[in-house]
Amino acid sequence: MQIETNSPEETFQLGKKLGLEAKPGSVYTLVGDLGVGKTVFTQGMAAGLGITEPVNSPTFTIVQVYDEGRLPFFHFDVYRIGDIEEMEEIGYEEYFYSDGVTMIEWANLIEEILPETYCEIRIEKDPQKGFDYRLITMEEVHRA
Ligand code: ADP
Ligand code: MG
Repeated sequence: MQIETNSPEETFQLGKKLGLEAKPGSVYTLVGDLGVGKTVFTQGMAAGLGITEPVNSPTFTIVQVYDEGRLPFFHFDVYRIGDIEEMEEIGYEEYFYSDGVTMIEWANLIEEILPETYCEIRIEKDPQKGFDYRLITMEEVHRA
């Protein structure tokens, strides 16, 4: 599924819609360049789950846990990860294979440990279509 947005608010609303629909145990991945809108999308998702506290990219921790919503929400940003062992150290499996909802920014950096099934969200700019234009592609991935 592909959707075009033309403002941060529209991207937020799309994330929010997903958050309203999200089922326990689901994993979402976000792929796209720096500043493309991954965190904006995640903030929408959190709002859809009923989380009211501010959500930002975890800077010094790889994962941030939000417990106040309809389901536990685990927000990973693995941009600064050195190697997969760091994921093992945090015990990522406890999050991925839980009854919560997991969102992973920069998931392409940890592809080898992603679950068998997840929803990949790709966000891309197109300079010809304006500064605030984003093409958002959502796809269910089943790993072999
Ligand atoms: P990332 O997490 O991918 O590095 P952020 O979500 O932190 O990116 O930042 C995205 C930036 O792009 C924000 O400053 C936001 O206001 C801006 N922006 C402009 N247009 C859009 C859009 N259509 N969707 C999302 N963000 C947008
Ligand atoms: Mg971010």
